[in-house]
Amino acid sequence: MEPDPQTTWHLQTSLVHAGERAPAPAAIPTATPIYTSATYLYPSLAALNQAAEDEASYTYTRHGNPTVAALEQAMCIAERGAGATVYASGMAAMHAALLAAGTPRGATAPAPRAILAARDVYGTTTVLLQEFFAARGTAITTCDMCDLAAVDTALAAHQPDVVLVEQISNPILRVVDIRALAQRARAAGARLVVDSTIVTPILQQPLALGADLVVHSATKYLGGHGDVAGGVVVARTGLLRDTLRRQARLLGATLGPFEAQQILRGLKTLALRVRQQCRSAGEIAAWLTSRPAVARVYYPGLPQHPQHALARESFGGLFGAMVSFELCNTGRAALHRFFDALRLVLPATSLGDVYTLASAPALASHRELTPEQRAERGIGETMVRLSIGIEEPADIVADLSQALDAVAVEP
Ligand SMILES: *Cc1c(COP(=O)(O)O)cnc(C)c1O
Repeated sequence: MEPDPQTTWHLQTSLVHAGERAPAPAAIPTATPIYTSATYLYPSLAALNQAAEDEASYTYTRHGNPTVAALEQAMCIAERGAGATVYASGMAAMHAALLAAGTPRGATAPAPRAILAARDVYGTTTVLLQEFFAARGTAITTCDMCDLAAVDTALAAHQPDVVLVEQISNPILRVVDIRALAQRARAAGARLVVDSTIVTPILQQPLALGADLVVHSATKYLGGHGDVAGGVVVARTGLLRDTLRRQARLLGATLGPFEAQQILRGLKTLALRVRQQCRSAGEIAAWLTSRPAVARVYYPGLPQHPQHALARESFGGLFGAMVSFELCNTGRAALHRFFDALRLVLPATSLGDVYTLASAPALASHRELTPEQRAERGIGETMVRLSIGIEEPADIVADLSQALDAVAVEP
């Protein structure tokens, strides 16, 4: 019998290879392992060559990784799409979606010709449209997507190839009708891209309503624990999925296997977290309306919300877990007193975490605007935006209550 070549190698060589490449165990692990390998071995060059031609075979981690593929499959099922592609962040996903949506059927155009976007999309998305796409020749127009007559006018005037919306706007939480927008976009020959980060597949699955691509920042509800960054695009058709895959291999903003495993774990509790967060948000919004220090509360679940009926029929009886409100006291000092008094609620810039988070749009997401521009968008100088976590709602209320009391106390 031939001696095992490993036994004849020098220690230096053995330590490079020892213990690696054991056959996969015969039993299937119940949780997906984190595959860190950048490359894969095949029994012959012919087999490797064949694998390079096959979508489903692994050859190099940027082209495909089993842990990443598990997350992609889970997101494809969550959004009922033809295929999902995951990215290193929500912004990488948004960039990829806008490029793919603007790609004419079968071609690889460098950028969309014209994009019609909701006026109040996520702040960095606005900057991406202006500083990246507009600078490369894409015509960018915005309109109020709650106003379907304005959408019809903008579609006719600008003939966009891409329409971009979020179902619930930030921070004043207005709700748009995805089915109506999808019909209009299709009739106008445009693809509809929906950033569903705030809504999650628990409240709505936009592809079933006619959207072409759904985008998520997995950093928010999907990951859910504030400890991982990632992004997802789910495509309605195989053609769009293939475009996204080709692009991802070229542009390379792919997700790593560690992050993929963390997000995959987050998905397991997504429904439980989001349902609880929405219920708590409803309680907290109702309580806020009774507080003398609060001038106005924005929450789609409140009967006085302008799109309450649409929200009720769109989101399966849930209304989201974001709540915004304006303090009666419109001075900056009042805003500071509120934030500095918080003990449980974390004053941190994100959303969708298990922790309840508070942010001040005037100082965070809408900082770059003047007070007049903020006012035009309905954002007051002492607006507070809450992302409700999974804590006991009574504890969140108690913390908000003492922080609202602190607003009234002039130092
Ligand atoms: C956070 C966020 C993004 C960007 O995601 P990142 O993971 O931070 O890159 C895009 N859209 C919405 C609605 C978001 O909240």
